[in-house]
Amino acid sequence: MTLTVVVTGGKGGTGKSTIVTNVAVALLTMGQRVLLVDSDVDNPNDHIFLDVNPKKITPIRIFTPGVDLERCARCGKCNTVCPEGAIVVKENKAPIVYEEACCGCKSCLYTCPYNAIYNRGRDLGYVRSTARGNLRIMVGELKPTEAKSSLAVNRLIRIVKDYMGDYDFVIIDTSPGVHSAVIQALRVADVVIAVSEPTPLGIVTMKMTIDLLNAMKLKWIAFINKSTISFNYREEMVKLCKLHGAQAIFELPYDEAIFKTNMDYKLLVESDNPLKTVLLNLAEYLVRMKSDGEHNT
Ligand code: SF4
Ligand code: SF4
Repeated sequence: MTLTVVVTGGKGGTGKSTIVTNVAVALLTMGQRVLLVDSDVDNPNDHIFLDVNPKKITPIRIFTPGVDLERCARCGKCNTVCPEGAIVVKENKAPIVYEEACCGCKSCLYTCPYNAIYNRGRDLGYVRSTARGNLRIMVGELKPTEAKSSLAVNRLIRIVKDYMGDYDFVIIDTSPGVHSAVIQALRVADVVIAVSEPTPLGIVTMKMTIDLLNAMKLKWIAFINKSTISFNYREEMVKLCKLHGAQAIFELPYDEAIFKTNMDYKLLVESDNPLKTVLLNLAEYLVRMKSDGEHNT
């Protein structure tokens, strides 16, 4: 059985990448087979934390219509069904396709009565893959000219699904925020780690994340990063998480040495810093959760 752990957070800069990379490596040291997936397709950076350069490239290819003008009767039906306004037919003229707006739904293909539409296809982005020791890493990346992050994550997850069964743990890092690209990753979660920090904005965005997770009926663990920066907001965060159903709460105190470790392209769990026990404990918690799940099936 594979346990899919999605790590998310309502705002950027909360330390999600630190947690993802350290937990992945901690699980590996516990004898688990681990696949790390960076689904922050607009700004993937887990590979930088791990100091690796993913090179092997698989394109994220989607359907994009081309029009056979010999067959096209200029009836405009493709224009009518397109949910994105990506194919436009004006005054019996030939259809114009706005590729960057097309979501690849194929409605135009199935609707055209004259079989005038074919698949030109386009690459929305790439999946780059590499390894750090036994840790397999897959990084989703949107092409700079594309805007459909949510669709790219959807297709990234489809590609990743082919490999998931080979691993004990799949750890997926999402982009920050509460939006459709995050939801695409959450859809495959067995458990979610919701990361935040004890600040006013951290509390507001954590509440948004919690509302989404509970609406999706997902099991979730809270991770309060830099937990010592404010006593009062930390108290408020703990109360919020307990009230709304956190399965567990982990806290990593603020420590400048952690930033120095990151700046040196090193991982906390591989350092001498005693705070690494927080992340090792989180990894152990996930191993127990996986083992309990196996015993209950
Ligand atoms: S539905 Fe087909 S025939 Fe009609 S305008 Fe579109 S491409 Fe042309
Ligand atoms: S594939 Fe869907 S979004 Fe793209 S042009 Fe056709 S109908 Fe519009």
